[in-house]
Amino acid sequence: MAEEKGLVIGVLALQGDFAVHQKMLAGLGVETILVRSPKEVAAVDALIIPGGESTTIGKLMRRFGLDEAIYQRVTEERMPLYGTCAGLILMAKEIEGSDQLRLGVLDVTVARNAFGRQVESFEANIALPELGEPPVRGVFIRAPYVTKAAESVQALGRFEEKIVAVRQGHLLGTAFHPELTDDTRVHAFFAALARESRNRS
Ligand code: GLN
Repeated sequence: MAEEKGLVIGVLALQGDFAVHQKMLAGLGVETILVRSPKEVAAVDALIIPGGESTTIGKLMRRFGLDEAIYQRVTEERMPLYGTCAGLILMAKEIEGSDQLRLGVLDVTVARNAFGRQVESFEANIALPELGEPPVRGVFIRAPYVTKAAESVQALGRFEEKIVAVRQGHLLGTAFHPELTDDTRVHAFFAALARESRNRS
């Protein structure tokens, strides 16, 4: 019998903090590749879009034909996708006041840089009941939050009433950056989701 190929999670590596995601997944024993081409999109079981600058990542995605490649796998094959911060913005259907490029796969509206200038960056404990106790340490860097979500979107976590973590089936998004902490639970949660989806297909 052929040896079973292990789970491979790709990290979109156009701009932003992709290397930290890769390190975190590696620490969990998950094989990763950095994704910069449609061919690499085709080679992974799941994908992470990191934080960074969503307009820049969007432009580069378009330039390399990655937006279409990712959109197709996510919508036609239900490839699991996790976006942190700028990644969440790029997954959203609507971005308040912006016509920038987005994948538009997640049924939410987001507001960018939504916590205001004075508190551009901050940390806060975010209860994520799906992950149990204790809460995760949310690192927010010029973060967005979700202002509207379809009924099929599960709000996983909030900060002062604002939705900052969501799941819609195979799609996961956080406004904060778990990859910048030592807490691997969000990545482990995504890896489990990816493994489950892979075993189903
Ligand atoms: N403010 C950035 C944007 O709108 C996101 C910041 C981040 O990813 N840490 O794209």
